[in-house]
Amino acid sequence: ALRTSVLRVPVDPFGQDQIVDIVMKWTDGPHTHVAVGVNAMVCNLAATNDDFHGKVMAADLSYADGQSVVWAARLLGGRVPERVATTDLIDALASISALTGKKLFFYGAKPGVAERAASQLRHVHPDLQVATRDGYVSHDGMPQLIDEINASGAHILFVGLGEPRQQDWVSQYRDRLTVPAILTCGGLFDWVSG
Ligand code: UDP
Repeated sequence: ALRTSVLRVPVDPFGQDQIVDIVMKWTDGPHTHVAVGVNAMVCNLAATNDDFHGKVMAADLSYADGQSVVWAARLLGGRVPERVATTDLIDALASISALTGKKLFFYGAKPGVAERAASQLRHVHPDLQVATRDGYVSHDGMPQLIDEINASGAHILFVGLGEPRQQDWVSQYRDRLTVPAILTCGGLFDWVSG
């Protein structure tokens, strides 16, 4: 399947079901993979910032998390089936994870927000296992956070620090993480927490 590049950012030609499939396959393997939701902000940052561009290129999967990106990719000849909103993606992944005993970790947003987002999802999916940490951990606190994420046994880590911060964080710490799937998710926890 061919990727389309929108302002140098690749967009994979997959819809939500395929993205869910791929991420759940990652959770069964020993290696760490990263998925990036591509929106207009990501494309604009990548167009002008080589460092950010390199970090986005290092992701294993890029999906169109914005209707403008879907349109742009199609105008450029790409076959992008649909917008894959991270808000829908998290619900699908939470649902399957609850059914299969996979664990989530939410890292990001102001204190209490990720925990409220987790509560909302547990309300819908009572068996869901999800640990949380706010997005204001100091540099000195990072080793402990990495240990905490690894010790949680999480299969899918959602990193919601906004751009470009979340790509910087993933690029800096992915080699120290044992979690098999990492998804960057911007302000998702604020959204899910209501
Ligand atoms: N955020 C965070 N740590 C930070 C800065 C921001 O966890 O040091 C969170 C913020 O609380 C919000 C998300 O990142 O949940 C997106 O932040 P912002 O609105 O600044 O970024 P954007 O939505 O523009 O990417």
